[in-house]
Amino acid sequence: MEESYRHKGLRKKLIEEIKAKGISDSRVLQAMERVPRHMFMDSSFEKFAYKDQAFPIGCDQTISQPYTVAYQTELLEVERHDKVMEVGTGSGYQAAILLEMGAKVFTIERQRELFLKAQSFLPELGYNPHFFYGDGYEGLPSYAPFDRIIVTAGAYEIPEKLQEQLKVGGVMVVPVGDSSTQVMTKVERVSADDYKKTEHGHFVFVPLLKGKSF
Ligand code: SAH
Repeated sequence: MEESYRHKGLRKKLIEEIKAKGISDSRVLQAMERVPRHMFMDSSFEKFAYKDQAFPIGCDQTISQPYTVAYQTELLEVERHDKVMEVGTGSGYQAAILLEMGAKVFTIERQRELFLKAQSFLPELGYNPHFFYGDGYEGLPSYAPFDRIIVTAGAYEIPEKLQEQLKVGGVMVVPVGDSSTQVMTKVERVSADDYKKTEHGHFVFVPLLKGKSF
């Protein structure tokens, strides 16, 4: 699949749409304007790539709606050179956005097929996060602590092992709720033992599942 002027034009329109819906962080908007979302989707869905909608990526999973990606990324307040852990690599689209923002990205996927696909595809576009096949509930203790943690699947509760892998001053953004809807939750580690939690808006994600799968 190619990147054309048409794709660039469609992407510009999508960014305007997201802006109109309330996203104002120019670093997020610029990153989204650079990442060719159509290349992260099956070619049969290519024409939907620049609509503000979620879409299937195989293995019963979805690439999140662009507005949701923008909203969650804005809340994360990523700075250049931040060490960021992402749970739920999926298509790799969110990881690409974080890389465009100058972060160092560690991304975990529990489904082997999606892990393998992202691992071979993202570097072709010049995106090189560190890929891990495993259970994101466990995080990456040997690479901790992280400046930022982003969970891109819905959790029933704030995963304790993940918040323990935040630096003091670090931020985690995780959708928390049941399978029908989740509240975007921001967790800031204010000291070794204290976390500040704030809630922001309702979203629908695929569930965060325990263990690995083939
Ligand atoms: N960030 C992705 C969104 C993918 S949807 C993107 O930009 O495309 C959520 C992903 O989380 C799915 O691929 C799903 O397989 C994965 N997932 C669910 N539970 C997980 C877990 N415990 N550890 C790692 N990945 C998980």
